Amino acid sequence: MMHTPALIDPFARAITYLRVSVTDRCDFRCLYCMSENMTFLPKADLLTLEELDRLCSAFIGMGVEKLRITGGEPLVRKGIMTFFDAMSRHLASGALKELTLTTNGSQLGKFAADLAACGVRRVNVSLDTLDAKKFADITRWGRLSQVLDGIAAAQAAGMRVKINAVALKGFNEDEQFSLTDWCAREGHDLTWIEVMPMGDLGNENRLDQYWSLRALRARYAERYTLTDLTERSGGPARYVRLEQTGQKIGFITPLTHNFCESCNRVRLTCTGALYMCLGQEDMADLRAPLRASPDNSQLETAIRAAMAHKPKGHDFDYSRKAVTGQMTRHMSHTGG
Ligand code: SAM
Ligand code: SF4
Repeated sequence: MMHTPALIDPFARAITYLRVSVTDRCDFRCLYCMSENMTFLPKADLLTLEELDRLCSAFIGMGVEKLRITGGEPLVRKGIMTFFDAMSRHLASGALKELTLTTNGSQLGKFAADLAACGVRRVNVSLDTLDAKKFADITRWGRLSQVLDGIAAAQAAGMRVKINAVALKGFNEDEQFSLTDWCAREGHDLTWIEVMPMGDLGNENRLDQYWSLRALRARYAERYTLTDLTERSGGPARYVRLEQTGQKIGFITPLTHNFCESCNRVRLTCTGALYMCLGQEDMADLRAPLRASPDNSQLETAIRAAMAHKPKGHDFDYSRKAVTGQMTRHMSHTGG
């Protein structure tokens, strides 16, 4: 593939990481993510798998080296393995360094072997609790055993599993150490995510569920010696090592500004909207230039123009107990 010059934003950050939401649909209804009765996008608005291929390939041609597939639940999109299979050609060519996904794990039992065959080496599985009843409560529609089987299938297929747990006050505070110990036994990395003010906040106040990762970290420090790790992913994660077990624990605090200066990523929705920042509404429509012509020149121009709008940082602010900079779109739309 011909490489056009790398994507650089106005703050001299090279954009090498693309997260792609391939569907807004999901087989779960996690309380902090969706409402029970979601209205999903009309199917005609979605990019086809061929269009997703064209778009991702254009980004890869412009220097994107890491692709993370997300959703909604990416593995409920019909025919999604065709797309993973198509992306594997960029791994084979060396243009793409990593192809990964974030999933709720429910379909991994079915797809883990195929994903591994497409070159997926790591998978992030979202799992907030190991209690079957609590799991059913938080996901509304999920079954814990199915997800645990999915995780086992991913491991059996040779993939590394990282567990992502949303830290929720009064919900999984009591599982901080049991979840940590389980991850240690199973050989999974663990990352905690601070709950974000996404979605409709009209009738639910997410501040009630807010459990600061600073508090969570302090509780680790009472039990373990923590060493800050310098490795950064270019995203909002920070890592520590628990010296007594050697485990690596991540903390994603999207509400702080401590990662914006190293931000290397943009997000594409399943309708072809490109968000330059998780915390801002500004987006560029890539579907129109994609559909306007079978050649990519308009699309590439639109992608470059969008980069010029990447903001320096986001607007979330939990200070003064009032949530400002709230987002009206759901995480399932931009893919988290
Ligand atoms: N369905 C897949 C899954 O659950 O992993 C991928 C999409 S989901 C939107 C991506 C991540 O966003 C998950 O780890 C989920 O826990 C997280 N998430 C959803 N809503 C959130 C919120 N309000 N605050 C913080 N994280 C959230
Ligand atoms: Fe579905 Fe993931 Fe949202 Fe849960 S967090 S409802 S699994 S998209």
